[in-house]
Amino acid sequence: MPSPTVAIRGQRSLLRQIREALAGGGPAQARLDMVVRIIARSMVAEVCSLYMRRAVGDMELFATEGLDPGAVHVTRMKPGEGLVGEIMRLGRPLNLSDAPNHPAFSYRPETGEDPFHAFMGVPLLRGGRAIGVLVVQNRTERVYSDDEVEDLQIVAMVLAEMVAGGELATEGPLNGIDLAPTKPERMKGAKFADGLALGVAVLHEPPVAPSQLLAEDIGAEDARLKTAIHELQAQIDSMLEGQHGLVEASYEVLETYRMFAHDRGWNRSLEEAVRNGLTAEAAVERVRSEHRARLGQARDPYLRERLHDFEDLADRLLRHLSGDGATARALPDGAILIARNLGPADLLEYDRTKLKGLLLEEGSAASHAAIVARALDIPCVGRLTGLRDKVSEGDPVIVDAETGEAYLRPRPDVVKALQARLEVRLQRRAEFAKLRDTPAFTRDGAKITLLMNAGLDVDLDILAETGAEGIGLFRTEFQFMVAEEMPRFSAQAALYARVMDAAGDLPVTFRTLDLGGDKVLPYLEAEREDNPALGWRAIRMGLDRPALLRLQLRALIAAARGRALRIMFPLVSSVDEFRAARALVDTEVAWAQRRGRPAPSRLDVGAMIEAPAVIWHLDALLPMTDFVSVGTNDLMQYLFAADRGNPRVSDRYDFLSPPALRALEAIQRGCAETGTPVSVCGEMAGRPLEAFVLTALGFERLSMPPAGIGPVKQMVLSCDREAARRGVSTLIKSSAGSIRNEIETLARKLYLAI
Ligand code: PEP
Ligand code: MG
Repeated sequence: MPSPTVAIRGQRSLLRQIREALAGGGPAQARLDMVVRIIARSMVAEVCSLYMRRAVGDMELFATEGLDPGAVHVTRMKPGEGLVGEIMRLGRPLNLSDAPNHPAFSYRPETGEDPFHAFMGVPLLRGGRAIGVLVVQNRTERVYSDDEVEDLQIVAMVLAEMVAGGELATEGPLNGIDLAPTKPERMKGAKFADGLALGVAVLHEPPVAPSQLLAEDIGAEDARLKTAIHELQAQIDSMLEGQHGLVEASYEVLETYRMFAHDRGWNRSLEEAVRNGLTAEAAVERVRSEHRARLGQARDPYLRERLHDFEDLADRLLRHLSGDGATARALPDGAILIARNLGPADLLEYDRTKLKGLLLEEGSAASHAAIVARALDIPCVGRLTGLRDKVSEGDPVIVDAETGEAYLRPRPDVVKALQARLEVRLQRRAEFAKLRDTPAFTRDGAKITLLMNAGLDVDLDILAETGAEGIGLFRTEFQFMVAEEMPRFSAQAALYARVMDAAGDLPVTFRTLDLGGDKVLPYLEAEREDNPALGWRAIRMGLDRPALLRLQLRALIAAARGRALRIMFPLVSSVDEFRAARALVDTEVAWAQRRGRPAPSRLDVGAMIEAPAVIWHLDALLPMTDFVSVGTNDLMQYLFAADRGNPRVSDRYDFLSPPALRALEAIQRGCAETGTPVSVCGEMAGRPLEAFVLTALGFERLSMPPAGIGPVKQMVLSCDREAARRGVSTLIKSSAGSIRNEIETLARKLYLAI
């Protein structure tokens, strides 16, 4: 057994020799032949072979020392065939003392490999994707040691980066190897933010450049790694102490991070890789590849989740190594950002004039990144499993958020079709812009008030552009979600004042904090709940933490500076909750007045109708309110008992169905009977067909995402409300589960512009 220092020195010199061989002149094939010879000699192996993947997917023997040279570029294996195929499939090493006895062994007479028993093969991984396999073999039955496996993996990593990094050029036999995916690919995901975009892929976490793989000075590299790990640990510890919240990570996730960041195994693997001659960055990539290959195969969702934690940690560590991860990267024109997931702050850091689209491997439509993408009008498709393995930096990419698809390296006809659709979208936008100052009256003279949903500063710029008649829902929790720590009174009051100033005479309805459920703040400690959507959220949290709610009410009253103020409470489930919340508003108004500060010239306090229970108590609730707004996103999730954030159930029930529409009809009738102003502010209000049905049911105030206003106004202008009412009131009696098709037919019959 060699002493560790000898092994390290050996490894260093092996890597150097490989680098020199690859970088030297001469034909590529001769250089590869030299590399396998060097590896065989260094590892005391009788055989060393390199297999590379062809673009067609086959594995081809590219160079060998020890097998019959005549088999080079002749021996080919289909994906999954033989031990080499098995390694490609698994993306991890195979170490066998008696290879011919392995069930996957496939005998190839042309290679002359009969006498070899011991076999060790490792994948050439690049970005978690196997592009080739490196094999050593010996005659005797032996098991290679863990150190030897580790050594060969490092060699494979260097080789993968050098081959893929163009050091060998792609001349001669190397032409046509599958270093990066090249075929056009269409992926189906979920639509997070509407729109279309065509651009070039920009990886949120780019791979380490091959030039940075081998350390010049191991001691210095080791010190850099240790400092970065130390900084990372300190950063995570301090986040957990609540000093610097990180928006995208919940408390629980952060705790897991801390566990991993302090994990000896992880740290040791990194340090070992550096001691073996890699730079700190390459060490991070190497350990990451290994985790990916191992955990990525796991069936257990818990284990796969852990992989994500490791990935995030690796990204963070790379940022520490680069000195500063916080500075935004320059983007090319028409950038389509590719990421596993993003925090809202991440997205805001990129240059909005260059960023045209967003593709995510994960996330949900209710995720923070999706919310911000919608606010910024950046088309976004999420839940594209395996996306980052399938796309390289600079690839042409299409984001089709109309259908929830991504096209990687699209064919020219697909690009052409998309350009035509983009053109149509632009034309429609221009038409909507022309309607901006036209009031939304139905053909039979009913005025429909179209309002905008907002929640971030960036929304204020578009208020005037859309022609909205006010902000029907201002989601105050967004400010909390994008902040690193709890916004203070002054920051809250300043934002509310900016919103009111920007709106001028137009009304703004501020919804008090709607936290809990999926909206978790890292700096606000919350207990884990089995059913967060049914748990401690919205007004329930506000009433249990009156200090938080009162501070917000105080900030709203201060920001109004004597102007009219509209406040709305989310998820009111009982009259008692509304009574208690309203009492807090009165207390705060009295508090301001006692200090000689102006009370709002007019104060309207409303409730969101989101919990089905209140539908059967409207007679009691409505007289206590100045207005109500129907939050159909939540109302429908509770009505159908289907989690709105869970893709397996969220689309299972149609809002255009008799039960949903009868519930809405009951709310509208209750409001009409008591003369209570009512609006609908769930996402359905922004979809023309749904907005048509709401109009038919008698709703006259609709609040929606900015992009919905033009299309909905066009619908309203073409709508005969009385005819719509008659049609919908018949359809609503149907015994069908969904009446969407019937409503579409009705809309066509009425020549509706949708
Ligand atoms: C709703 O539930 O419909 C709503 C408008 O509120 P949010 O989507 O913020 O829960
Ligand atoms: Mg809601």
